[in-house]
Amino acid sequence: MTTKTIRVLLIEDDIIDQMAFKRLVSEKELPYKYSLAGSVKKAREILTDHAFDIVITDYLLGDGTAFDVFDYIIDTPFIFTTGGGDEQVAVEAMKAGAFYYHIKDPDRNYLELLPVSIDKALHNRQMEIDQKRAEEALKQSEERFRTISSAANDAIIMQDYDGKVVFWNKAAEKIFLYSKNEIIGKDLHNMIIPHESSDHYLRGLKYHWQKGIEAAIGERIELQAKTKSNDLIDIELSISAVKLDEELNTIAIIRDITERKKAQQALVESEERYRTLQANVPVGLYRSTRDGKFLSANPAMVNILGYQSSEELLSVDSDTIYTSAKSKKAFIQTIDKNKSINGYELQLLKKDGTTFWASITGKPFINRNNNKVYFDGVVEDITIQKEAKEQLRQSKERLDIILHDIGNGVVVLDQNLQIMKLNQKSTEILGLEKDNYQNRKFNDILENCLDGGKNIIEALKEQSFANLEIRIINPVMRTLYATATPFTDIDGKSAGKIIILADVTKEKEIERMKTDFVSSVSHELRTPLTSIMGFSKTILLGNGIDDETRNEFIEIIYKESKRLSNLIEDVLSISKIESGKANYKLKKSHIAPIIKEVYTIYKIQADNKNVSVVCNIDDDLPLILADNDAIHQIAVNLIGNAIKFTPAKGQINIELKRYSNYLILKIKDNGLGIPKKDQDKIFKKFYRVYRPGKEIQGTGLGLSIVKQIVDSHNATIDLISEEGAGTEFVIKFPLINE
Ligand code: ADP
Repeated sequence: MTTKTIRVLLIEDDIIDQMAFKRLVSEKELPYKYSLAGSVKKAREILTDHAFDIVITDYLLGDGTAFDVFDYIIDTPFIFTTGGGDEQVAVEAMKAGAFYYHIKDPDRNYLELLPVSIDKALHNRQMEIDQKRAEEALKQSEERFRTISSAANDAIIMQDYDGKVVFWNKAAEKIFLYSKNEIIGKDLHNMIIPHESSDHYLRGLKYHWQKGIEAAIGERIELQAKTKSNDLIDIELSISAVKLDEELNTIAIIRDITERKKAQQALVESEERYRTLQANVPVGLYRSTRDGKFLSANPAMVNILGYQSSEELLSVDSDTIYTSAKSKKAFIQTIDKNKSINGYELQLLKKDGTTFWASITGKPFINRNNNKVYFDGVVEDITIQKEAKEQLRQSKERLDIILHDIGNGVVVLDQNLQIMKLNQKSTEILGLEKDNYQNRKFNDILENCLDGGKNIIEALKEQSFANLEIRIINPVMRTLYATATPFTDIDGKSAGKIIILADVTKEKEIERMKTDFVSSVSHELRTPLTSIMGFSKTILLGNGIDDETRNEFIEIIYKESKRLSNLIEDVLSISKIESGKANYKLKKSHIAPIIKEVYTIYKIQADNKNVSVVCNIDDDLPLILADNDAIHQIAVNLIGNAIKFTPAKGQINIELKRYSNYLILKIKDNGLGIPKKDQDKIFKKFYRVYRPGKEIQGTGLGLSIVKQIVDSHNATIDLISEEGAGTEFVIKFPLINE
């Protein structure tokens, strides 16, 4: 009997029966906690809100019968009581689910039996509940097993004692390709064991049977099995045994390890490959501590550092390979700072003490076991590349210097006429602003050329060309000669063109001046020669020429000879000066008389041209160091020019004075004047002011001779002139220091 409090509901409308029940409970000290319901209505209310372990109900109730409350007694055993003669009702009640019934007797003896019935009912109910639970648990566990076995990746196969298959899950179907129907009831070893292993298998099986259940548990073996399609597969088999109905059954759990085997094989092969690779690669591979102590090194690494074996290299101190503590520190700092390093370049020491340039690529990593930093690196000896790079840098530098210093412009173009290189001289002579023209288009640097350099762009279609004339029109007029030569790259393929630009402005000018000179000299020579020849022939023929006329003719011949002589003198002077043969004899001289003499000679010429000449020469002028003939030449040239370039009614002033420590000669006229643009070139040989329409004869040598003489006398010459207003030349001779 249970001592647990039992919750009882007594449905009874008879007060006496109620009291009898009460008495029974208290007299027998029954562990009931009971509630009373005196009607169907009350019973329904109580049953709706409360749960009971047992319900005892009388048949006839004031407002109905026990049958009216049955629907409310759910999952609770109930005992039915009824008066004598109602057996038929009791049977009905039992059919309706009553656990037991008691026929009420007038002495209420049935109450004595009631506790027994209650206990029985409760016990029964408990049994029912337990059984239900057990059934449920079994159902669940079967369900679970089914789910697991069908979801499992491993084949689960059960074999009975005769070797017949009794269980075959989904995975088994998948692995061996036999469906459940095809294999259940068949001999397993005939189906999935390859013929050649059959004996072996059966022996093993027998062994397991002999050893019994325990011996078989937990063993795992790898072997080959065959599938329905006769393919051999690698399997891992673990066998266990169970006793079912007193017979041993084998459970085999089989895993298809074909893939795993393949992966293992692949791993073995890849490890082998790695080992071969690292032994044979021509780059050094190593693992070291953070400080550089080697932990492993491949043969190439050993070789690069010049050691005999990896053991020898692994035994050296971490400092041994660095060239200095500083270089070691810098490398370690880089490792510490970066997740990986790529092509770090440093010099390392070989065993024999020589150095080489190493390029290191690698990764530091932290070993979880000891929390230490290690470094896996790849080392390449890049000494040769480094040297080549350095040589290339130097040769580039040299090339840059050459390009910079070269007197010509050099432009290197690629095949698309894009600028690869351009030296400073190019920008200078092309009249360009200082800018970076690298990688720009060739057209960009031709902006100052006549017609945008159309002719050179056109010419570039050809392989090469030489001395193509280019005219620069901005900011100053220039003439350039361009020469283009193709160049090839290392493979011999055409890579572009090198253009050399030579500034030939000066040469062109000289050329022009020389042409001018030749034509003017020949003209100057021809005029006097013609008259000399003409007049002398007339005299020689002597046909009735009177003395006066002959004298006049001889006078003319003499004058023209003089003019010729002057001209030849000029040409000779300049060639003398040019060849460095002009040898001035400087001596203390008074130059006033020389100036005066020239003035007197040219006065007549001026008068003839109706040009007045005033000569102002101070008295007692100091001595200077001078070559008298040279001073004479200066005066002739300057005074001669003044008369030549001053029209009629003009005036010329000649002045010789002392100012401070100088003796100053000024020759001034109010003639044609010299245009500004010509003034800085006027002293150059053969330079003549171009005066279209009013060309005045000359050689362009006079002022050049003057300048040379002035220079050789340590004097200076200044020009003050304005076009149309006149010209003044001022020569300052230094006085003798006494
Ligand atoms: P040439 O007189 O033989 O032409 P020069 O060397 O003496 O050569 O002079 C060079 C040029 O300078 C002349 O062609 C002339 O145009 C200019 N020139 C020289 N002196 C004067 C002057 N006094 N007035 C104007 N032009 C002058």
